[in-house]
This record gives sequence, C-alpha cells and structure tokens, in this order.
Amino acid sequence: MTARIPFDNSYARLPERFYTALDPTPVTTPELIAFNESLAAELGIDVAGLSRAELARLFSGNELPEGAQPLAQVYAGHQFGHWNPQLGDGRAILLGEAVGPAGRRDIQLKGSGRTPYSRMGDGRAWLGPVLREYVMSEAMAAMGVPTTRALAAVSTGETVLREMAFPGAILTRVAQSHIRVGTFQFFAARGDVEALARLADHVRERHYPDAKDVPQLIDAVMKAQGELVAHWMSLGFIHGVMNTDNMAVSGETIDYGPCAFMDAYHPDTVFSSIDQFGRYAYANQPQIAVWNIAQLASALLPLMPDEEAAVEEFTGIVNRFGEVYQAAWRRRFGAKLGLALETPDLAEALLTLMAKDGADFTNVFRRLPDARDEFMDREAFDAWRATWESEGPDADLMARSNPQVIPRLHRIEQAIQAGLGGDLRVFERLLSAVTQPFKKPEDYYTRPPATEERVARTFCG
Ligand code: AMP
Ligand code: MG
Ligand code: MG
Repeated sequence: MTARIPFDNSYARLPERFYTALDPTPVTTPELIAFNESLAAELGIDVAGLSRAELARLFSGNELPEGAQPLAQVYAGHQFGHWNPQLGDGRAILLGEAVGPAGRRDIQLKGSGRTPYSRMGDGRAWLGPVLREYVMSEAMAAMGVPTTRALAAVSTGETVLREMAFPGAILTRVAQSHIRVGTFQFFAARGDVEALARLADHVRERHYPDAKDVPQLIDAVMKAQGELVAHWMSLGFIHGVMNTDNMAVSGETIDYGPCAFMDAYHPDTVFSSIDQFGRYAYANQPQIAVWNIAQLASALLPLMPDEEAAVEEFTGIVNRFGEVYQAAWRRRFGAKLGLALETPDLAEALLTLMAKDGADFTNVFRRLPDARDEFMDREAFDAWRATWESEGPDADLMARSNPQVIPRLHRIEQAIQAGLGGDLRVFERLLSAVTQPFKKPEDYYTRPPATEERVARTFCG
C-alpha cells in the first residue's frame, strides 16, 4: 500500500540546469514523530489505511510515492550581505508538487542526505530543529501568516554530529514554492538570460498571474514582502536569517533556523548566535526586506530591453516598499489596539513604554486594558491607556488580532529536551496550544521564562 499524492511537477519540467535530479538517501530506521492530517487533506494526499511505519518510510524518503520526481534546487544568495554564487538545497529534496484542494504545493524533505550543493555539510538535520520548525511554522500558519508548513516529522535512527551527537530527523516541508530571490540571482550572476526569463515566467504564472511583465512581478513580490514583514512585526517575530536565499518570492515565511518570538520587547533584540552585528535584529527587518527586493530587481535587469530606463523604473518600485510596509504596519498594529490608526503615533508610544520597561510583547497586547502590571512606570501606562480608551477601541477586533499564545523559546526548548529523552508529549501539547492561538490557553503557555528558563541564543540547526 502506498500514499496517493496528486503530483504535477512543473519545476522538474524547467531546463536541467535549474536543479540536480537525485533521490533522498535512505535512512536506517525511520519512525513517525508527527503527521499533519488536516494539511494532508488540503494537499489532496490520500493516506487512508497507511500505518505509521508506512508513513515513516514515505516521509523519510526511504520509499518514493508514485509520481515523485526528486530533485535538489540550485540557487545563490547574499548571506549577511556577502555574495555566495553557489548555494542550493544542501540537505533538502523536492519530491514534487501536489495539486490538491489548496492549490499547487511543493513537498520537500529536509534533512534527506547530501546533494551536490552540500558543501561541507552532512545533508542531515537533527530532532531539535525539526521539532522547532514544526511548531513555529504551524503556529505562524494558525495566526494567518503566510508560511511554509510542516506535513510530517520522522526520526531516522541515525546520529547527527553538531556540537554533540544528536538523533537525526527529517521534516517534510510544504510551500507554494521554494523559489527564492537567490534563485534569480543564481542565473543573473551567470549571465544566463534565457534561464532568467524562464524563471520569471514560471513565477508569474505560478504566484502572480496578474503580473503581466517583469516590473509588475517585482511590484507584486515587493507588496507581498511588505505585508509579510509588517505581519511578523505585529507578532514580535524575528526571522533571524533574512539572507536572499531565505526569502521566498511567493511571500511565505521560509527557513525557521534561528527565528524566535520575543518575550520582553526591545527593538534591538537578536537571538541568532551567528548574527554578531545584529543585521537581522527585530527593528531592522523592514530595511533588510527592501534591500533583498533591490537584489531581486537587480537580478531581473537583464530581461529589460533598455537597462538604463529599467534601473529608474525598478528603483521607483523598490522605493514604494516603505509606503506599503507602513500602511500594513498601521493596519496591523491598529487592529491590535482595536482601532483604525491614521498615524503610527499611538502604537509607537506604547512600544516606547514597553521597550523602556522590557514588557512582554504578547502579554501586553492580549490583555491590554489590564496590562498595567507589565510596566514599571505604571503612571506612564495609565496615561497612555486613557488616551487609547478615549478612541473607543473595538474589543472583538483586538481579540482577533492579538494571539493569546505564541511558541515561546523556552517552551520549545523544553519540548526538545523531553523529545531527546524519548517523550514527545511535551511537543504534542505545545503544538496543540500554539495552533489555537486565539483561544485562551493554560497559563503555562503564556508565562514568560523564569531566569533559569531563558534561552538567550538560537542556532541554524
Ligand atoms: P541556511 O542558513 O539554513 O539558509 O542554509 C544555507 C545553505 O547551507 C543552504 O544551501 C543549505 O542547504 C546549506 N546547509 C545547511 N545545513 C546543511 C547541512 N547540514 N548539510 C548540507 N547543507 C546544509
Ligand atoms: Mg535556508
Ligand atoms: Mg536554515
């Protein structure tokens, strides 16, 4: 018996220089950790009658479903601002695209073995980052943020060496596509204009059917990213590694390596252990997004008949990011305050108080009228609250816009530690809480970390 996945693999039909066709490397003893049944249904994947062992074989890559055309995608990218002409799926294999009720979705195994793009890496992933991505990406989806999804997690029975030896695992990641700004950059850097044109057409057809030409494509990606980053900001989310190869042109959040939701609010917050200079700090995210869009626009220049005129036109599009982002920010933070904000002032005034006192981002917003105890300077909060209340905030709008629960770093860490000890229930309960983010959870999930629970740094995995 095997799963029926409605594959139609448009990326595999692109020219061969877009990827390397290869199978996942089989693993010793795959065992199912988690499977997302509702997502499977959205994808039109029929797993009825399959045992856990069969699902584990399938989502480890040990057994290929009918219609899969496994491949590793090639791309390039700017990592922390430094150009790298050759990246690519170093530990991921795209099985193909499922076309089900939700539309077209990539199905990718992450941690599935070495590829020609692995460089010094082992092609594998370990349990910690796999559980982390599962929880984070499913929480983001439940909060309505465009994101890659988690379909399955499997342990491999193998050991993965990082700073220590850890149990290996594989995540099945689902995305509208895995095409990145870096995919365009790869072909642009090689002067492969024909491939660039094919890629631009592919992305327009697949993600932005209303975009009739290259400028409209850039405009559409710019708008999607402006909306996305404003959404992150409104949740206190820090992506942590906004390299151009980690920026999906679909406008989905991708790469849950070192990301985190803030507990105590401060705009300069950074978690990633490799982000020494705070390039990807919370408050820098919009600037970085616009820089990344500018890289996309540069990569697309060779497709324009008059490059000089195109530079001017593209610059105009890139520069409109600020407007799009600020409007989205006001809308999002306005909704959090239960108001339609005409200026950012009221929201910014609250954030300034929160930063001064290190107030908990999620908890302030989710119980705003009673958030007094989150502040040291209570009189300042009282004064702000009086102004806010005089505007007549809409409580229903606030309840829809402020999550009660986000996956806090220390809770994820506790779930991973329990998982390493063979107990997945902590992970399962956390997943269940954070995928119902607007429902009041147990206090356990809303409590910021005690001093000894604090996780100061995150890692790429
Ligand atoms: P990231 O920082 O996660 O965006 O990864 C950057 C690049 O390194 C991508 O091309 C990944 O495929 C590759 N990479 C990350 N970890 C590994 C690994 N363990 N083995 C092989 N390649 C990896
Ligand atoms: Mg990446
Ligand atoms: Mg990563």
